[in-house]
Amino acid sequence: MKKRKEAKKIVFKSEKEVPLMPMSVGSFLFNKTGVWRNIRPVIDPTNCIQCGICWKFCPDVAIYIEDEFPMIDYEYCKGCGLCAEECPSKCIVMVEEEK
Ligand code: SF4
Ligand code: SF4
Repeated sequence: MKKRKEAKKIVFKSEKEVPLMPMSVGSFLFNKTGVWRNIRPVIDPTNCIQCGICWKFCPDVAIYIEDEFPMIDYEYCKGCGLCAEECPSKCIVMVEEEK
């Protein structure tokens, strides 16, 4: 059996480098995935460079831009951590969800 190639991690410096393609299919009114969450992303705006990468990568369109800064809609954020993983400034941390 042919061995699969190791996946190469691509690092984008801004949302302009991300190819023009849909990464999210959009949030559904009745699909509030926030109830799935065990950990939540918290953004430190002081280190945010406003690159928009978190907004582009969020699979649930739970991130929106307000006054040029990303905000999280916790009704739709499922806590996958993609935004924190992709943030080039590492200003998103995943914290334990309070029950
Ligand atoms: S953790 Fe980040 S990427 Fe994942 S759903 Fe929540 S806001 Fe979107
Ligand atoms: S939180 Fe991180 S990924 Fe999101 S806009 Fe700011 S620097 Fe970019």
